[in-house]
Formats: sequence, structure tokens, C-alpha cells
Amino acid sequence: MSEEEILNPIDEKAVTTVLANTRNDAAQVRATLDKARERKGLDLEDAAILASISDPELLGELFECAKTVKEEIYGKRLVVFAPLYISNLCANECLYCAFRARNTAVHRRALSREEIANETRILVNQGHKRVLLVAGESYPREGFDYVLKAIETIYGVREGRGEIRRVNVNVAPLTLEEFKQLKNTGIGTYQLFQETYHRGTYEAVHLAGRKKDYNWRVTAPERAIHAGIDDIGIGVLFGLFDWRFELLALLQHSQHLDACYGIGPHTISVPRLEPAAGSEMATHPPKPVSDIDFRKIVAILRLAVPYTGIILSTRENPNIRRETFALGVSQISAGSRTNPGGYGDGEKEDWSQFSLGDHRSLDEVVRDVAQLGHIPSFCTSCYRLGRTGQDFMDLAKPGEIKYHCDPNALSTFLEYLLDYASPETCKTGEKLIEETLAAMNPLQRATSMSLMDQVRAGKRDVFC
Ligand code: SAM
Ligand code: SF4
Repeated sequence: MSEEEILNPIDEKAVTTVLANTRNDAAQVRATLDKARERKGLDLEDAAILASISDPELLGELFECAKTVKEEIYGKRLVVFAPLYISNLCANECLYCAFRARNTAVHRRALSREEIANETRILVNQGHKRVLLVAGESYPREGFDYVLKAIETIYGVREGRGEIRRVNVNVAPLTLEEFKQLKNTGIGTYQLFQETYHRGTYEAVHLAGRKKDYNWRVTAPERAIHAGIDDIGIGVLFGLFDWRFELLALLQHSQHLDACYGIGPHTISVPRLEPAAGSEMATHPPKPVSDIDFRKIVAILRLAVPYTGIILSTRENPNIRRETFALGVSQISAGSRTNPGGYGDGEKEDWSQFSLGDHRSLDEVVRDVAQLGHIPSFCTSCYRLGRTGQDFMDLAKPGEIKYHCDPNALSTFLEYLLDYASPETCKTGEKLIEETLAAMNPLQRATSMSLMDQVRAGKRDVFC
């Protein structure tokens, strides 16, 4: 299929019609929650019914239902990663972003290969195993090769007992040919947020550069799939337009990918607009999303696409993060910086893309997460065993993936504790490992113990 043949999959009118026809009705909400408990997902009408909830009692039932489904599918695991910003050069003019071309409030920097290696070494020494490479949409003289070389550089770093084992990428939409090159570097997920699915809003907030083209962006995930990348991440920047519309459009996009390619998105991200240097819009979002609505979004997504990972970043503060983990989040960033060079230089507002809500170190986040009973996982095994796309879903849907995920989460968590954790985190973590083993079935416990014995004996990067 050629690039031109891939069409915009979003039917705005259908979304608006569903929302307009939805009544807030307790019996319908409860029937929808019963359907959600079957873990087969929800359609647009169902999601609209849940989005209409305002009664506190029903809201409580929604959250309980999301917690149950999250626990049944994902157990207590939370996969941890860090973003790695390689450049803040950008030719676009997205009104909400500090990196936009005409913004003079931000200093510009594209990291050299040595600087990228240096940032990677710092992340590895903190204990990270997964990074999300991020860049603005303008590359130094080498063009797109700059990104390809950056990925090669990150994978090439060996430091102490660790290395980065999975590089996910969040860069602007590519051509089919460029996606093929990206695939060849061995990336994990290609992630791209539509920002807003509402075309009118999209056009009003993207004033210059290639990003003005709504269709080029909304069709990018499919170009990536045609190029052979089968782990795709999508998302919305919440705060630009009505969250209910965005939520339903996200689901429509997800269902379209599933229907056409047999693989829905691997992950959905839920960034909310955060203040950004030189952006009035980021400080005063046009359609702010309240904390309670944010939790609703996560809970409804968990029920609507039960097998799609949900990513929560350090845009959110520790309290919101704590409240949201149990509702359905499966991946979190930790210890993040959004300024290129930020791991070596520290957080610098006037070099950053937006302000962080969570400034804690990886060690602090890991300890906090473990104290709450979640298992921080540094697992990268699916991608390295080729369990991606359809293969991943074939294991995920019958619920078999957790026989791999739980032992791998424990063994990679143990690696972290032995190699990088503070004594306090180590104590909390070892206790959680014991409790988790005690609650496992005999087969899972045996697999986990065998992996962890190897880690305790000095072996690294063991997985099943
Ligand atoms: N430049 C590429 C693009 O726009 O797709 C990729 C990287 S961009 C740095 C990553 C994401 O950051 C954007 O897709 C957008 O959703 C998010 N972002 C931009 N400004 C933000 C802000 N003020 N608060 C929160 N997230 C923001
Ligand atoms: Fe550039 Fe991406 Fe920021 Fe837009 S969101 S200004 S494309 S870095």
C-alpha cells in the first residue's frame, strides 16, 4: 500500500453523535460495568456511558471495576522507563510546547553522539533498562540519520552491570521509507500522540511546519505498521479539547488499527497539558481536565481496551500517580528530565519541554511504588523474544502473558535492588518479593525462583 492510500481513520461525526445520544443512566452504567468485567473491551457507546458518570457512588463502582480488571490482567506490575531527550530543535509551531520554533524563551540544543552516550550511561547507572527517545521535529545537518545514529549509540553503551535493553521512540511522523530505517535499528515501540483528534482544534493550535497536516499525523501509525513496526503507541494531549471526544476518538483509532491489522496499539499515553516556558496555552489549557476526570479517563481506557498498556508520565505529581496506578496504568516514567542533556546537567526550566509534576529520583519512585504493593518491572523480554504485535496479543488475550510477566518482573526488580537500589529501597523491595512469591501459584513461583536464583548467583538479563 502506498502512503497516499492510507486514509484518516477518524470519523468525528460518529463520535459527536454517540456523545450527543448518551444519557446519564445508573442502570445502563451498571450494565456496562458488567460487560467490562468480561474483559472483552467496550465499544464507543459503552465508553460514552461511562464518561457521563457524575454520581459519586457510580464513580466508585467504575474505579473498583477498573482496579479489578487491571489486577486480573496485569497483576501488580508497573513497567518503568525514562525519556531521553536528544534535541529540542523544532520547525513546528505547536502553541502548547516550549520547543516550538518561534519560542525565544527556550535555549536550543541537539546532543552530540558523545553527549547521548553520556546521558545513557547516567540512566544505566541509575538502573534504567528502557528509554523513550524524544526529539523535536528538526534534526541537525545529518537529517533523520541523526535519530538513527542516536538509537545505535544508546544500544551501544555498556556500563557496569547494565545496558539499555529497549529503546522506544517518540519522534514526528515519518515516511514509509524512514519507518523502515527506524525498524532496522531495533526499536521497541514507535509512539506518536495525535494531540487532539478534533480537526478544528488541531488546526488552531498547530500554526506552522509539517505538523499542521492533521492527516499526515493521524495516518503515521499505519505507515509504521506497513514498514513492519508492530508495536505502536498512540495518545492524546489532554487539555486541548473536550476529553470525552478525545477518549472516544482514541478508541475509534485503536479499533481501526485492530480491525485493519489485527493489532491494536501496544500502548496508549494520557499526557495532560503542563506549563511550558513561553506558552500561554500550556499554562491555561483551553479545556482543562480535572483530577477526577483524569482518573475517569484512565479507568475507562482500562475497561475499553483491557490488553493495551497505559502509560503515565512524570507530568503528573506523585499523588495523582499513586491514585491512578491501581486504576489501570501499566507503565510509568521515573526520574525524568525533559531538557536535552538534563540527566548530566540537572533540570533546567528554560531548556525543557514542559514542567514536571514528579521530580523524584528513580530510587524514590521505585521505593514508593513498592511500598504501595506494586512491583516495579524493568522487563524487556517480550520485545527481545519477538513477542510483539499479534504474537503478544495471542498471549495477552487468553491471560497467558502473566506467566511470563510476573517472573520477569520479579527477576528484573531483583537485578535493580542488587545493583542500584539504596539500602532502604532494597529492604522494601525484598519484602515485596517475598510477599509476591507467597501469593503466587506453584508454577509461577517455581519459574520466578529459578530466574531469581540466577540473578542472585550473579547472572544478569535472564528472562522467560
Ligand atoms: N516532536 C514530536 C512530536 O511533536 O510528535 C515528538 C516529541 S514531542 C517532544 C512529545 C509530546 O510532548 C508531544 O506529542 C506532546 O503531546 C507532548 N507535549 C508537548 N507540549 C506539552 C506540554 N506543554 N505539556 C505536556 N505535554 C506536552
Ligand atoms: Fe515541536 Fe513536538 Fe513540541 Fe510540536 S510538540 S513544538 S513538534 S517538539
